Amino acid sequence: FSPWEHPDHPPFIEFRNVTKKFGDFVAVNNLSLEIYEREFFALLGGSGCGKTTLMRMLAGFETPTSGQIFLDGQDMAGIPPYRRPSNMMFQSYALFPHMSVEKNIAFGLKQDKLPASEIDARVAEMLRLTKLEQFAKRKPHQLSGGQRQRVALARSLAKRPKVLLLDEPLGALDRKLREETQFELMNLQTELKVTFLIVTHDQEEAMTVADRIAVMDKGELVQVATPAEIYEAPSSKFVADFIGDINLIEAKITEKSADGVRLQPVKGGFTIDSDQTSDADVGDTVWYAIRPEKVRIAQGRTEEGAVNQVGGVVWDIGYLGDVSIIHAKVGADHHDTLRATFANVSRMVENPITWDDEVVLSFGRDAGVILK
Ligand code: ATP
Repeated sequence: FSPWEHPDHPPFIEFRNVTKKFGDFVAVNNLSLEIYEREFFALLGGSGCGKTTLMRMLAGFETPTSGQIFLDGQDMAGIPPYRRPSNMMFQSYALFPHMSVEKNIAFGLKQDKLPASEIDARVAEMLRLTKLEQFAKRKPHQLSGGQRQRVALARSLAKRPKVLLLDEPLGALDRKLREETQFELMNLQTELKVTFLIVTHDQEEAMTVADRIAVMDKGELVQVATPAEIYEAPSSKFVADFIGDINLIEAKITEKSADGVRLQPVKGGFTIDSDQTSDADVGDTVWYAIRPEKVRIAQGRTEEGAVNQVGGVVWDIGYLGDVSIIHAKVGADHHDTLRATFANVSRMVENPITWDDEVVLSFGRDAGVILK
């Protein structure tokens, strides 16, 4: 069930025309966004795009300059952070160094004056969910980075917030631990049925954990969609470039019909036939964007007059283990570069394709997208 596909389903979090200025600087610009209950939602963008500011306004640590924020049907204006049904886990974790793991987890519950039996039950539940039972009596300095991260998570979830806000939660972990923890976060979210909002600048992380992603640039949303939609159908050159690797070929539209367009790369040398429709006109220059794994590569020469086929010469190969990224100089006078992914399916010491090889790169009508 994907609530965002049902327009009559009420959003759980709503930003309505929210602007945040710091002096003259506009950090968030008239932004509207709806997030649904139990979604794992990611705010993704480069440094300074306003993603943390947006999250801090939801948490109540910043006040919008204008606009409204609703959480669970309630206007959050004037409501202090501790009275909101959200809880934020900070990048620094902010654990109390002199308290044991269980005391850290219990801290917020004691402040809320919950009965001791309820506190004990919740701490035990959180220790189990975050696999920290054996570390309950340890102090933060006796834990690894990954364990400390789990304590911070347990502490923010113990209060049973309706929304957990995660600001770069895995930033301090090494790659392997990060990947493991991403799956733990997803399991935890499924088990606890809490809405998760994560801020990250790491596109792989957003793609892995999130049901939907909002890509931000300069205080505005540039695309809100599922990871697959963002990857397969980026709405702009910015998004295409930001998420994963992509070839961007500047090309002129030479023909338009009901079932697609034909393009001529500006640097010449081949013809592109695409099933995409475009609101650009014949004669306009656009970007043809195609992922390297959608480009086939083989040794040899192109056929005369072939469409979606271009000859090239290999000038660089990046060996990544599972695949190699092959950079080929293509087009008239080899002025363009096209990258193709080559799957290393058999165990070989040397690639069958190597430097200076003459190659043919080809792709389907449905392989790329047309962007402005
Ligand atoms: P990063 O990943 O680097 O943290 P971000 O997308 O989370 O980036 P924000 O922290 O939301 O960015 O900041 C957005 C912009 O607003 C930045 O240019 C930042 O310098 C500015 N900004 C944030 N907080 C303040 C503040 N309290 N006073 C003045 N400017 C601020």
